[in-house]
Amino acid sequence: MKILLATSNADKVKEIKEFFAEYEIYALGEVLDPFEINECGTSFKQNALIKVRAVHEALKSKNLQSEFFVLSDDSGICVDALGGAPGIFSARFSGSDATDASNREKLARKLRALSLDSSPAHYTAAIALKCDLGEFCTHGFMYGTAITQQRGHNGFGYDFMFIPRGFDRTIGELPAAVKFKISHRTKGLALMQILLKNLEKQMRLAKFH
Ligand code: IMP
Repeated sequence: MKILLATSNADKVKEIKEFFAEYEIYALGEVLDPFEINECGTSFKQNALIKVRAVHEALKSKNLQSEFFVLSDDSGICVDALGGAPGIFSARFSGSDATDASNREKLARKLRALSLDSSPAHYTAAIALKCDLGEFCTHGFMYGTAITQQRGHNGFGYDFMFIPRGFDRTIGELPAAVKFKISHRTKGLALMQILLKNLEKQMRLAKFH
């Protein structure tokens, strides 16, 4: 079965492709003309479902909906000292033309304004799936500490400012293999993998009846 990702975010596509090595994975732009999805939900789960629904609809208009599992990732970092911000607004924390760099700068500024160098924080990934058998969503979390310093070059987004629990280096400083083992995305995808296997089995059985 083929999986179409409801994202063109190259960093997410890379991590998801690495995790699902056994599946044929397509980024959104490889199958459909990229289009804006209005992420107007109030939770990671709602936004992840909004993305798969929008892409599933677009596939339907081309009668391709049965060819793919549509999978999305809505993720972000929640910083305790900031009341859980930026949360679902992680990608657009510093405005509509935000970049990963401007978002990191804003996070550091906000913590410094509270006279803090660090705060407990966690990443969340909501992984949603839509296919002929229905809609599903799993979650993964990675707990640790957000710091005002930026250290290392591995990963993306807030990774240079996040020290996972049990480590003394940022994700940016740790080998990519460590993030692959412990990340919110990996944990959410691992649960989704169980669902996918089950759904594939149901589809195989349905063919014999
Ligand atoms: P989304 O594309 O709306 O789900 O927003 C995701 C945003 O959350 C990214 O642009 C990053 O700022 C942040 N984010 C999510 N996952 C990660 C990660 O694994 N590392 C670093 N930043 C992440």
